[in-house]
Amino acid sequence: MNANAKPLLVIGGGIGGMTAAVDAAEIGYKVILVEKEAYLGGRVMRMHRYFPKMCPPTCGFEINTRRIKQNPRITVHTMATVEEITDEAGDLRAKIRIRPKYVTDMHLIADSMTEKLTTERVNDFNYGMDKTKALYMPHDMAYPPGYVLDREALSETDAEKLNEICPPGAIDLEMTEKRIAVDIGAVIIATGWRPYDATKLDYLGFGQCQNVITNVMMERLAAMGGPTAGEIVRPSDGKKAENIAFVQCAGSRDENHLPYCSAVCCMGSLKQVRYIREKNENAKITVFYIDVRTIGREEKFYYDLLEDENVSFIKGKVAKISEEPGSENLVLDVEDTITRENLHKGFDMVVLATGMVPNTPDFKIPFELKYDDYGFTDGVTNFDGVYTVGCAKRPCDVSRTTKDSTAATLKAIQCLNRGE
Ligand code: SF4
Repeated sequence: MNANAKPLLVIGGGIGGMTAAVDAAEIGYKVILVEKEAYLGGRVMRMHRYFPKMCPPTCGFEINTRRIKQNPRITVHTMATVEEITDEAGDLRAKIRIRPKYVTDMHLIADSMTEKLTTERVNDFNYGMDKTKALYMPHDMAYPPGYVLDREALSETDAEKLNEICPPGAIDLEMTEKRIAVDIGAVIIATGWRPYDATKLDYLGFGQCQNVITNVMMERLAAMGGPTAGEIVRPSDGKKAENIAFVQCAGSRDENHLPYCSAVCCMGSLKQVRYIREKNENAKITVFYIDVRTIGREEKFYYDLLEDENVSFIKGKVAKISEEPGSENLVLDVEDTITRENLHKGFDMVVLATGMVPNTPDFKIPFELKYDDYGFTDGVTNFDGVYTVGCAKRPCDVSRTTKDSTAATLKAIQCLNRGE
C-alpha cells in the first residue's frame, strides 16, 4: 500500500458509508467520514429488524462502531456536510461544514436535566410520531454518543433556564459552525435514501386519516426504542391494531409519483407482517399488491406467510382510503384483479409501502455529477476517484449496499495508491 496516500472521503454515515470507512481503514488507509445527522447509522438504525436474517440493526451497528472507535485512521464528522470539492490538476480538496451541537461535554448532561425544559421538538428519528426535549439524545445507541441542542426549537425562557439546570460550561449557546478544508485522494458517495413523501398520495389518506401510516413508521412502532415501546397500536387512540392492511406500491410503479420499483418494499411489508403476527396472535392482516417481488431465497419468506391463515393476499391496486363516517376506522376501495370484484373493506390501521427516493436532490454533492430523472447517480464525474454506493445509485437493501461499499472501497483504494 501507499503509506503517503491521501484520505478517502466518505460522504454519508449510514450502513454504506460505515462499511466503506471500516473496510478502507482496516487495510491501513485514512478515512474522513462525513454525516449530516448527529449520529451514524442512517436509515438502517431506524429499522426494527432487517431481512433476510430478521436481526435488529443494533448488532451490526455495535460491531461497526466498535471498529470505527478503535481505528485511529477514521475521523468522523457528524452534523456535517461537504460544501465543495475542487480538483486542481488531480489534487482533490474538500470543504466540510460542521454545525454546532451547543454541548461542550456530553458527560455533564443527564436526562434529569433535559426533562426540566419545556420546549419540545418533533422527533425525526421516530418519523414525527413523538417529541423530544430541545436538548436531546438522538437515540439510545447514538454514536458518537452525546446530547444535541436544537437551537431553533429552544424558547428564550428555556435558553435562560439552561444555565440553572446544567453544570457551568456544559452548554455554549455561542458555539458557531466550523469550516475545515481537507486534502483527499478519492470520494465515496453513500448519501442513501429517504421515503417517498406520502402526503403526495392524497387518495391513500396519509395526513388526513390518523390511522394511515407508512412502512418506515411501522418500523418505529415495532421497535422497543420507538414511540410506543414496541406496541403496535393505532395513532388515533392507542388501541392495539387487530385488523391491518398493507398497501403495496404506494406511489411506486406509478407515472404520477415514482415510475420505478423500489425493490425492497415487498420484503419490507412481509417482514412487518411477521412483526405483527409475532406480537399478536389474533391480528388479521391483508396485503394488497400488484406483484409480490421477492428475489432468490427471499421467496421462502413469502411462501411461509401464505401458510398463515390470518394473513391474506389480494391482488389489486388500492384506489382510495377513507375514514368510516363518525369513526377513525378505515375503508379501502380496491378491485380484486383476479376475481374482478370491487371490494369495500374495513380496517383498524393501514400501512403504506412507500418507496425509496435518493437523498441526492436535497443534499447535492458539490461537484458535477450525472443524475438520472429521479436523482440516482452512478458517480460519473470529470475526475477520477469518485464512486457511488447503495441507494444513492438505485433502490436496494442492506445486503446489496454493503457489498457495493466493499467493491467501491477496493476501486477507491486503487485510486489512492495511484496518487503517489
Ligand atoms: Fe411495489 Fe414491491 Fe416493487 Fe415495492 S418492491 S415498488 S411494493 S413491487
